[in-house]
Amino acid sequence: MSGDDVVYAGVDLGGTNIECALARADGRILCSGKALTRSHEGPAAVLKRITDLFRGLADEVGTKPIALGIGIPGLVDLERGSTRFLPNFPTHWRGVPVAETLAPEVGCPVYLLNDVRMATLGELIFGHGRSSRTMAFFALGTGIGGGLVIEGKLRLGPLGAAGEIGHQTILPDGPRCGCGNYGCLEALASGPALAAEGVRLLLSGQAPELHRLVRGDASAVTPSEMAAAAEANDLAVRVAITRAARFLGIAAANVVTILHPDLIVFGGGVAAIGPLLFETIRQTVRERVGMFPVDDIRIEPSLLGNRAGIMGGVALAMKGGFTGI
Ligand SMILES: [Zn+2]
Repeated sequence: MSGDDVVYAGVDLGGTNIECALARADGRILCSGKALTRSHEGPAAVLKRITDLFRGLADEVGTKPIALGIGIPGLVDLERGSTRFLPNFPTHWRGVPVAETLAPEVGCPVYLLNDVRMATLGELIFGHGRSSRTMAFFALGTGIGGGLVIEGKLRLGPLGAAGEIGHQTILPDGPRCGCGNYGCLEALASGPALAAEGVRLLLSGQAPELHRLVRGDASAVTPSEMAAAAEANDLAVRVAITRAARFLGIAAANVVTILHPDLIVFGGGVAAIGPLLFETIRQTVRERVGMFPVDDIRIEPSLLGNRAGIMGGVALAMKGGFTGI
């Protein structure tokens, strides 16, 4: 097989879906598919579904991938390729030998990495990070995940858990975070945190456009509906988004002060709010970093969008696991 024919596989194991893609080394996706995770059925059933998905796609392409990288929503034993703790999965998957179980089934080496570190790797190899040496990645979704690349190398730390920049304290007496701390960025600017403020504005009569957009249904309030309402001149909603963006800007400014990266990327659903969010983040970084000029630091929405994770899996497979990144 010549170098151009080589195919790699990436899997993103999420709470709802398992996504899989087969791609070339240049990042071109040959085919992709997904299956329901159904984590309540336990690890064996979930791993079987990953195998079936992988085999189906390999048959479709007609080439066997030479390695598989899997993003895991939790703590991973990088050397053993097993899970340590998946907070949102039943039984928490303590010590499940994922790589050892899957490798003979899929017929190639299998490598694991935390899902947000994997999305960071995807953005580094195939996204905005291609021209970056030192970058930070914020994944703005139900939580706020993160990842750091320092001098071209993904910072993993002894537990593969370094780079949790969504759990830096922004407000010392702020709301309680899922991690147990108070006032984390995640508790202030994640999708649910922003939507909760949207619901409050809706129910207190301060967001007429949002009310119209969701037809008065508080359960339909999302960050993207709020962005549309702000666009339609709901001033209070605009203020709520700007406030969340300012918290994100403070977090980014802290990262800039510590690392002086050349790039900060924001991915995940909340980043889709767009210019209103990014203008405030960039302005806050300019205001909050006084020790050196920040004009050359790019602050961008993810180039890969929701493919960042899966492309990180492909990159992990290409690199031959965590020792290569
Ligand atoms: Zn936290």
